[in-house]
Amino acid sequence: MSSAETFDVVIIGGGAMGSAVAYFLGLDPAFDGRVAVVERDPGYARASSALSAGSIRQQFSTPANIHMSRFGYALLRDPSLLAVDGAVPDLGLVPRAYLLLAGPAGGAHLPAVHAAQAEAGARSALLDPADLAARFPWLATEGLSGGTLGLEGEGWFDGWALLQAFKRKARALGAVYLDDEVVGLDRDGDRIASVRLASGRRLGAGQVVDAAGPLAATVAAMAGLDLPVRPRCRSVFVFDCEHGPHDAPLTVDPAGVYFRPEGNRFICGWSPGEGDADPDQLELIVDHPLFEERIWPVLAARVPAFERLRPGASWAGHYEMNVFDANALIGPMPDLANFQVIAGFSGHGLQQAAAAGRGLAELIVHGRFVTLDLGQFSPARVAEGRPLVELAVI
Ligand SMILES: Cc1cc2nc3c(=O)[nH]c(=O)nc-3n(C[C@H](O)[C@H](O)[C@H](O)COP(=O)(O)OP(=O)(O)OC[C@H]3O[C@@H](n4cnc5c(N)ncnc54)[C@H](O)[C@@H]3O)c2cc1C
Repeated sequence: MSSAETFDVVIIGGGAMGSAVAYFLGLDPAFDGRVAVVERDPGYARASSALSAGSIRQQFSTPANIHMSRFGYALLRDPSLLAVDGAVPDLGLVPRAYLLLAGPAGGAHLPAVHAAQAEAGARSALLDPADLAARFPWLATEGLSGGTLGLEGEGWFDGWALLQAFKRKARALGAVYLDDEVVGLDRDGDRIASVRLASGRRLGAGQVVDAAGPLAATVAAMAGLDLPVRPRCRSVFVFDCEHGPHDAPLTVDPAGVYFRPEGNRFICGWSPGEGDADPDQLELIVDHPLFEERIWPVLAARVPAFERLRPGASWAGHYEMNVFDANALIGPMPDLANFQVIAGFSGHGLQQAAAAGRGLAELIVHGRFVTLDLGQFSPARVAEGRPLVELAVI
């Protein structure tokens, strides 16, 4: 193998996660290694990072998720670190709250979840139905026991711009992007020795990073590993509603339906709950009946103005669902020390790409987390049967 084909770090997948890792490696003065990012879909036609709803919140049940999103928000608010040749990227941040509504059953947990969030530094207000009605006159509060409203650090942004900003900066800092597909991993005992590409190239690798998003388990399987990350198809629907609440927060109904303003339109979607079918699905197919049969009835009941809406475009993307505990997997796989995972974000990865990418880069360069301890997200917890359950999956 020629030395030109050997890299200190080979990152599989150049979406937001892979590009964030490459960027933070390049940024670290203690790192002077060579980084290759292998991306099979350089136009990102199917990448989750390009098909995301691009929203960010502080309201999680896992404190470490709050800390990750807080760092993500800081970067969105001030993206000057991502400037290349003096050009600071516009990441399109719209600061706006999330409003998480609770039905009768969810209400009992609200004070405890709210207190835990406050403890982790997330500011939110606990609202009862009267507060909700006073604050959001467009909202029908029937069947609600209350809700929580973020008070800072929430909103939405341009996911495509964030991905491209990470990528551009990573390249400026020396990362090499290869338009190719990883088709095999060669093990040498407890290490991955090399990475095989569809083009026939073989890359020697010091460290290998699995940042393949919804295909993370497919890549891990090339090393004989079982990763509980599954591609789960999610549809997003755009609609117009002239008299709708254009200043609304990102609102999540207890029935799993969410909506938020997008420019002068709205977008919405639905997350399956316990008991709902949610098969693995690699094809990206919009579930058109979902809007008519499931989403619109909930929207119209919760926001009477939405009884008169005009459906528009729609798209489908993959959640890279961690079916073990719906939380991220960040760090080395047990028994395969140089195979690092950054996957399984279960629908909230884009906002966490910065913190997760920085954390994994620190682990690679320094052997430990330096700025934010992400040890709880270690993939080792899967084999050990220690779930770190995130309840707020939207
Ligand atoms: C509809 C929808 C709404 C969402 N809403 C939000 C939200 O509001 N907020 C939020 O934070 N997150 C949201 N997410 C989740 C978020 O988009 C993802 O968690 C995040 O983008 C994952 O980034 P990634 O880089 O891991 O995956 P991807 O962007 O999918 O990148 C992985 C890349 O790996 C490449 N790849 C795979 N296999 C190989 C291989 N063998 N060789 C080479 N390359 C390979 C793929 O081509 C792909 O480009 C949403 C996702 C969807 C689908």
